Amino acid sequence: MLFKDIKLLDKDFTVKEHQYVVTEGEYIKYAGPQAQAEDGMEVIDGHNRFLMPAFYNTHCHVPMTLLRGYGEGLPLQEWLSSRVFPFEAKYRAQEKYWGAALGACELIRSGCVSISDMYFDLADYGEALYKAGMKANLSNGAVCFDDNEAYKDNNAYRDTQRLLEWLKDHRDGRIRADASIHSEYCSRKKIAAETAEFAGENGMIIQVHVSETRREVEECVARNGYSPVRYMKECGILEHPTVAAHCVWLDDNDMEILKESGTVIAHNPSSNLKLGSGIPPAAEYKRRGLRVTVGTDGASSNNNLNMMEEMHLAAMLCRGRSLDANAIPAAEILRMCTREGALAQGRTDCGLIDAGMKADLIMFDLDRPHLLPDYDTASNIVFSAQASDIVMTMCDGKVLYKDGQLLTVDEQEIKAKAAESFINICSR
Ligand SMILES: [Zn+2]
Repeated sequence: MLFKDIKLLDKDFTVKEHQYVVTEGEYIKYAGPQAQAEDGMEVIDGHNRFLMPAFYNTHCHVPMTLLRGYGEGLPLQEWLSSRVFPFEAKYRAQEKYWGAALGACELIRSGCVSISDMYFDLADYGEALYKAGMKANLSNGAVCFDDNEAYKDNNAYRDTQRLLEWLKDHRDGRIRADASIHSEYCSRKKIAAETAEFAGENGMIIQVHVSETRREVEECVARNGYSPVRYMKECGILEHPTVAAHCVWLDDNDMEILKESGTVIAHNPSSNLKLGSGIPPAAEYKRRGLRVTVGTDGASSNNNLNMMEEMHLAAMLCRGRSLDANAIPAAEILRMCTREGALAQGRTDCGLIDAGMKADLIMFDLDRPHLLPDYDTASNIVFSAQASDIVMTMCDGKVLYKDGQLLTVDEQEIKAKAAESFINICSR
């Protein structure tokens, strides 16, 4: 495919006009200013179009689409114990397939090609993401309240093994297995340490929830004498590449630990606002050299999976929180939602428009009233654009979405099956 004479976000995250991009198979073959031969290629006219890397969502629970609106008005702990956990006890593997498929529709429409996800029945719902043409780092967050329980006796281990088996037949690298413990408050030190060992043995990234609410931090300090970040370090988690979701309530020590370990923070603005968890000082994290990426979290605490909205909120909140109108510049926000997210998922060949990178691209229609004048495109994309301005989503060189149509899935069927699944779960 040839994107001809198009405006794009180049590998340095600067906007360039009159560019040409050629994709071949899964990869970008050429990106630059030289006109390219058109023979045999599908040509996309770049007039009034903007091309950039697709979004990498670093914290999600994609089957939770079926819990959208189910548990409103509650703070984190009550929301989990009175609504989420009881629903999940009745949520069957095959239904998670449809929940994830519904999420895939939403993610792809809003320009996201890859998620870091934590849930259960990984192979079952991973299949839905795989069929939709997406990428995902799937993890089952170990939940354990027994000091002596071994990781290998936990369902998280068994479910991850099942995913590893499934991956033997799905080897193109789009779906990956990560290790995970749900959080400090849902784990014990032994199982956390063994999860870290397991990740080390298998070269896996670890996904965790960390310091989401002030209450979580206070209770962790009361239990252990130190913060959730320190807990992750003490258990050996942070010796491995880790994506720590939320990180709303960090002190100086925590920030130092996360910087030293190279841990990636998944900033989840909507979820933190909706559950009343707080606003993390993301600009300060960046200034201190921490790695900050952006995630939607699940659709029951957000309540959607729209990375455009998440990007917009991240850009707004860091300014409001730090009282600085240029706290994290627009181009840097774009990098956090794309390249930095890809790196957090271990996808070193993703998230940049450059020859040799995977062709994970999104294209915007700039011919919209709210995008005129096109004086500062990066700013327009972060602050003015809507997900509905995206007219194409491509993953590994394959077009998943174009001009309002999802090309890899039957959206009508998915919507019907998801609605049916919700009714069945509630009737149990
Ligand atoms: Zn979460």
